[in-house]
Amino acid sequence: MNTPRSSSPPLRSPEQLRGDPDGLVLVTRDDPGFEEARVDRIFNRRLPGRQPAAVVRPETEAEVVAAVRLARERGWQVAVRSGGHSWAQWSVRDDALVIDLGGLHELEYDQETGIVRASPSTPGGAELAPYLAERGRMFVGGHCPTVGIGGFLLQGGQGWNARGWGWAVEHVVAVDVVTAAGELVRADATQHADLFWAARGAGPGFPGVVTRFHLRTRPLPRHFAHTVQAFDLADFDEVMTWLHDTHHTVADTVEIVALTKTDPRLAPGPVLLVTALTMVDDEQEADQALAPFRKNPALDRAILVLDNEPTTPEAERARQLEDNPEGHRWAVDNAWLSGPASEVVPAMRRAYTTLPNEKAFTIWFSMAPLRELPDMAFSVQSEVYLAAYVPWEDAAEDERHLTWLAGAMADLAPVTVGQYLGDSDLRRRPHRFLSEEAWGRLQQVYADRDPDRLFVGYLA
Ligand SMILES: Cc1cc2nc3c(=O)[nH]c(=O)nc-3n(C[C@H](O)[C@H](O)[C@H](O)COP(=O)(O)OP(=O)(O)OC[C@H]3O[C@@H](n4cnc5c(N)ncnc54)[C@H](O)[C@@H]3O)c2cc1C
Repeated sequence: MNTPRSSSPPLRSPEQLRGDPDGLVLVTRDDPGFEEARVDRIFNRRLPGRQPAAVVRPETEAEVVAAVRLARERGWQVAVRSGGHSWAQWSVRDDALVIDLGGLHELEYDQETGIVRASPSTPGGAELAPYLAERGRMFVGGHCPTVGIGGFLLQGGQGWNARGWGWAVEHVVAVDVVTAAGELVRADATQHADLFWAARGAGPGFPGVVTRFHLRTRPLPRHFAHTVQAFDLADFDEVMTWLHDTHHTVADTVEIVALTKTDPRLAPGPVLLVTALTMVDDEQEADQALAPFRKNPALDRAILVLDNEPTTPEAERARQLEDNPEGHRWAVDNAWLSGPASEVVPAMRRAYTTLPNEKAFTIWFSMAPLRELPDMAFSVQSEVYLAAYVPWEDAAEDERHLTWLAGAMADLAPVTVGQYLGDSDLRRRPHRFLSEEAWGRLQQVYADRDPDRLFVGYLA
């Protein structure tokens, strides 16, 4: 069954029809509506000045093929947009043809195989999750409901309970891709395996347009429960040292996130929250999985304790939406951390205890014990992921917020072993996101698949 989704803002108007043989509708720089087409679906409103040559919003796979061929004919590079949520606005590229996939709407679940086919602009939480839940299934989509699965999956995809269930991209069984040669192919473990390998981790460096993901789904857990403990920031060192030394022992059904944020319901200033969300089949299993958090040595000083309280995927997604407001300017950065608590915890202090405004938050996301990765481009991770998120509205505050973020990340440098593409802006602070071996192999994929560099690649 194909499910219609909410329609994208209309881009077609008679005066914009260019009469191309394939009927493609291009919005070029001189067209009314160009600015809207350039950035209307971009989440981070600290908008870049970069000026594409044109934007096209195909409504069929055949139109994607035509768009790639047209770019080649006209000597344009190609940039791709799925959900428009990359913090560094990777789809807005100078002089390129932007292929905006917001017009492709496909969502189809196969009960026999448990595989769902989805268009890249599908928001993982807002559309894919409820669609699958109705069928008793789930996908390990992104935490914020509005993130498109396209960019999310290509860069790895840190979805629900990544520490236990793996990177979302490990659930991709095939991708349909329009290649630089303008051919539509299916890439999986047995055919076009080089593209399949690259599609699982190359992120915005992927040389092709993915038009469809084939995703392995999981049974929807019957019971969601969480433990939440809130602390004064004075307890930061003690709590985080304990967590650093404990998280690898917690059951792999538990997603563990420690974050600082401001929540006036708890305290006037920022607080440290230790959160553990378990997705299991019954209350008893949840109770066992969450038991280690009762040993937190600072528990008697907690401002708030919820212990093994039932929750729902909807409630968790609503909280994510609240934390990630639309219409804001954002600066975001991240690091994979490694080392003993005595080195890692002090290095995190500035990122955690000096948030620059009341909407900013910093997360610590457990990936321990580290799982071995399959053979795919995604290849850099560590036990601890830290990311700092700073939203604000007034452009006059840009400098102050960017300076704070740069300082917080600089403190982390001695314990940083890499970064995750999903929360990166490679122009500001590039770090290793693929292993050396994977990077070398990706260069070979480019040489074979896109020797003329039709696709724009990394913005670095
Ligand atoms: C509020 C918010 C919450 C987030 N939460 C999470 C999270 O929980 N976990 C996580 O891992 N990440 C998270 N992210 C990061 C997010 O996954 C990345 O920014 C991702 O790139 C967004 O995908 P997109 O399709 O929406 O973005 P886009 O900006 O549309 O895509 C980013 C780039 O990926 C490439 N690309 C995208 N689609 C295709 C395609 N079909 N074919 C070829 N190339 C393509 C292009 O180079 C494109 O420019 C979050 C981001 C935001 C804004």
